[in-house]
Amino acid sequence: MQRTDYHTHTPLCQHAEGTPQAFVQQALALGLTTYGVADHAPMPPEQEPYDEWRMLCSDLPRYFDWIEQARAAAGNQLQILSGLECDWLPDIAPWITELRRRHNWDYLIGSVHYIFRHKSVDDSLYAETSITDSVEEDWHLYWQAITSMVRSGLFDIVGHIDLVKIWGHIPEGDLMRFYTPALDALQESGMAVEINTAGWHKRCAEQYPTTPLLRELLQRRIPIVIDSDAHSPEHLSRGWEQAVALLRELSGTQLRQFDHPAPNNSNTILKAYGLR
Ligand SMILES: [Zn+2]
Ligand SMILES: [Zn+2]
Repeated sequence: MQRTDYHTHTPLCQHAEGTPQAFVQQALALGLTTYGVADHAPMPPEQEPYDEWRMLCSDLPRYFDWIEQARAAAGNQLQILSGLECDWLPDIAPWITELRRRHNWDYLIGSVHYIFRHKSVDDSLYAETSITDSVEEDWHLYWQAITSMVRSGLFDIVGHIDLVKIWGHIPEGDLMRFYTPALDALQESGMAVEINTAGWHKRCAEQYPTTPLLRELLQRRIPIVIDSDAHSPEHLSRGWEQAVALLRELSGTQLRQFDHPAPNNSNTILKAYGLR
C-alpha cells in the first residue's frame, strides 16, 4: 500500500505552520510516496479579503514558490503535487473555472464550509447552536451544497464530506435522506472522496465520512483516498494506519488500492482505495 496525503496546508492560509523542508522531512520519515499540497484557495480578487483563513490571490506566486522549495528538498524521493482546497459557494463556479485555466493544478479538492449567508459550519460560533433555525435545515443546506459541488464537475476530491457534523449537531432519524443525492451525484462524477482523519480530533470525534456513509461509498465503488488535513508538519498523514484499518474492517479481503486518474487532470494518478 502506498502512503499518500492529498490534503495539507501551508502558512499562506494564515492558520497553518511549518516550512516546506519540515513537511518534506516528515513525509520522508513516514514513508509517504506522495505529498499533495492543497491550501485554502483564494477567492475572487474583488471579494478580498473574504475571510482571515485563506491565501490572497496575490499570494499565489509565493504558494508556487513554497511548493518548488518542497520539491527541491524532496529531490526524487517523494512526489509532490500542487492542488487547492476550494470553497464551494452558489456563485463560485466561474472563479473556479478561471483558477483552473490560469494554472496547471494536479487536482482540486472541493469543500463546503459556508452555508446560509456565508456562515462557516466549523466556526466555533456554532458550537452550541445551529446556524439556521434548526439542525435539520443546516444539514439540508449543507448537503444540497455538497451535491451541487459534485455536480459542477470542477473538482477531483471531496473534502471532509460531512463536516457539518463537526460540533456534534446531528438531526433525528435516518441520515440517508441527506446522503443519497450526494452519493448519486458522486457515482456519475469520477470524483474521489477522502477519509479525512482530522475529524478524530474534533468534537465529533470520528473521521469524515461517518462509518455508515463510508460503507455506502465503498459499496457504490467510489474511490477513497486518505487525507490528514494537516495544518502543521506533525499532523501530516496523522491517523493513516487507523484509516486503513477501518477500510479493511468494512471491506474485508476485497479491499484494493488502485490508480484513479483525477477526473479533471487525467495526468494525475490518485492512489485510491475501494472494492475493485
Ligand atoms: Zn484550514
Ligand atoms: Zn476544509
